[in-house]
Amino acid sequence: MSKQRAIFLDRDGVINEDHGYVGQPERFEIFSYVGEALRLLSQKGFLLFIVTNQSGVERGYYTMEDVNRLHDILTEHLKPFGVSLAEIYVSPYRESTPNDLRKPSPKFVFMAAEKYNLDLAASYVLGDRQTDLKMAHNAGCRAVLLRSGAGKETEKEEGAKFDLVFDTLLEAARAIL
Ligand SMILES: [Mg+2]
Repeated sequence: MSKQRAIFLDRDGVINEDHGYVGQPERFEIFSYVGEALRLLSQKGFLLFIVTNQSGVERGYYTMEDVNRLHDILTEHLKPFGVSLAEIYVSPYRESTPNDLRKPSPKFVFMAAEKYNLDLAASYVLGDRQTDLKMAHNAGCRAVLLRSGAGKETEKEEGAKFDLVFDTLLEAARAIL
């Protein structure tokens, strides 16, 4: 069976407004273009994943149940576009807690690669922070910076390395072939 290509999406600042520690539905503001963007990528044959750091869980700001509730909202939002996500991977840890899940660890990407027989060199990570770009490098994927969320600031940061940069997820979805 030939290997599949994937898009690994960061969540906050890519899919929804990054209000900081988004755990409640009223603060989960999905960008208007997300359904269209993910439909395009899906039509191009990419499997879609989300990989998100949610240290708000370990900090006690919200629970994994809250996180899953937001992801149910996203799943419902995407249905009319005929889009489904293969998996949503969540790291609940803060940076100081030893673990191998939190980005920039490539652990979730490697788990996905094994389960879905992915060609990581032909896959992309789309994110707005350096942790996303570093995960891309650590996993051997192409790193795509989006200027939504914190992306404009990240673009100016020293050491920010990326292969492509776009204003939004929709522009990236149109450009990636
Ligand atoms: Mg982000």
